[in-house]
Amino acid sequence: MKYVVSGCLAGLACRYDGGSKPYEAVRRLVETGRAVTACPESLSGLPVPRPPCEQRDGRVIMRTGEDVTEAFERGAERAMRTVREHGCTAAILKARSPSCGFGEIYDGSFTGATCPGEGVWARRLREAGLVLYSEDDLPPELTGKAD
Ligand code: SF4
Repeated sequence: MKYVVSGCLAGLACRYDGGSKPYEAVRRLVETGRAVTACPESLSGLPVPRPPCEQRDGRVIMRTGEDVTEAFERGAERAMRTVREHGCTAAILKARSPSCGFGEIYDGSFTGATCPGEGVWARRLREAGLVLYSEDDLPPELTGKAD
């Protein structure tokens, strides 16, 4: 199985605040060639750092009020090229992100509250049939738990 992983989980400094959220198990997958990284928000052309963004009423909004839905869609499409080029069949995604989250995402209030939903890229990955994991729910082969 080849994974695509959220770049920030592999240690890339691509988050809105210029930081990352590295997980050792995810980094090892990349180092051993079993995973490739992608960050749809970086691929969108938005800068790093950038104001935080959240989804609200089906749109993606910067905390400054700017609607960046089109940029997020563009970044997700570019990230899908990586998925196709490498034949990825599973993804490990940053939880709750407006791009990468699935199941629940930040609710648009910029308070840390969440609501049911999925990120712009996560939706594309699900529609393409990839198996989705997050840092809160890593693949069984990385946790040592039975599938
Ligand atoms: Fe991480 Fe995804 Fe946000 Fe990029 S878009 S910083 S990969 S959560």
